[in-house]
Amino acid sequence: GVRVAQRFSGVERSATVALLETVQRLRREGVDVLDLSGGEPDFTTPQTVIAEAVSALEGGDTHYTPSRGLPELLGAIGEKLATENGVHVDPATGIIVTPSAKQALFTALMTVLDPGDEVIVPTPAWVSYPAMAALIGARAVPAELRAEDGFRLSRQLLEGRLTDRTRALVINTPANPTGHVLDGEEAAEIVAFAVEHNLVLIVDEIYEKIVYDGHRHLSLASLPGVAERTLTVNGFSKAYAMTGWRLGYLAGPGPLIAQALKVQEHTVSCAASFVQRGGVAALTGAADDIAAMLKEYTVRRELTVTALNALPGVSCAYPEGAFYAFADIRGTGLTSAAFAQLLLERAAVTVAPGSAFGAGGEGHVRLSFAASRDVLEGVGERLTRLAEEWP
Ligand code: PLP
Repeated sequence: GVRVAQRFSGVERSATVALLETVQRLRREGVDVLDLSGGEPDFTTPQTVIAEAVSALEGGDTHYTPSRGLPELLGAIGEKLATENGVHVDPATGIIVTPSAKQALFTALMTVLDPGDEVIVPTPAWVSYPAMAALIGARAVPAELRAEDGFRLSRQLLEGRLTDRTRALVINTPANPTGHVLDGEEAAEIVAFAVEHNLVLIVDEIYEKIVYDGHRHLSLASLPGVAERTLTVNGFSKAYAMTGWRLGYLAGPGPLIAQALKVQEHTVSCAASFVQRGGVAALTGAADDIAAMLKEYTVRRELTVTALNALPGVSCAYPEGAFYAFADIRGTGLTSAAFAQLLLERAAVTVAPGSAFGAGGEGHVRLSFAASRDVLEGVGERLTRLAEEWP
């Protein structure tokens, strides 16, 4: 057959996307599947965002924008980073608007890694970091976090993963799938490690708006002495329920952003023009929508954690942030894949097996509570019934 590039060895299709296909197939067969395997808010995008994008389209805003992004959106992002995150970048040289946070992450990794280089990724982690590294010929080195430590990262753990090829470290806070929110002590250790070994920090803050119980999101780039080595990634998918819009951004020091801009210019040129207009409206006029969604996530979190804890051998802590419950299933004696299979067969509920999230993920399953209350209550009923006839 035709030859494909070597870079695909070890790169699998996204496990969570594959699950979605199983769900769609079962539904076609008439099974009433309650799907908690994905990571997509069920809310509609705030009306003001939709109205702005529609009016941009109708007003003829259908052309290329500057590849960095629309000046209005760059300005709004710069303002947001300064006031909400304590991150100071020049909107003219320190930000690129990208078609999704995913694309921003790919661009960031492409900007700092050569083939053969290594990037440390604390795991369990979102499935795409290692795949992206592999696609550009680099290697993700897992730093395995432990449930017993609350999935906190330590300098000692990082030091153990360092080689002479290490160039960067990926940090995701609030984290998918664990829900952990970076704390100050942890941040200080990460920064000291990155500075001492001259590493770039690639920080994925896509869940920053979704934090509970008084936890506060902390942007690493706001800490003294690291702005020059930190690329901050964020996007509109989760905070504003805008997954289908594909809109995100990359922010950081001028010299790194100047190189990243070449990746953007030679691949996608720019994010869609009217979508960027919607982005301006999101940043400047959707605070109430965000507050309402957070309130709703708090209720849904309760429903989900309670339902899980009803199952014998399952123990689920309240996540600090994001919209995933990452339940410890070790007491059931099942692997995460077997547990997920059991929930599918006996309750028609789909969850993501922890093994999909890399080292440290086994022994857990992830349930997304970005689903509607009806769905979550249905899951609660099914799990209660299952608990009665367990296993
Ligand atoms: N980063 C993390 C940690 C995510 O969970 C996701 C979505 O699942 C993304 C990035 C991708 O976001 P976007 O829709 O902007 O590509």
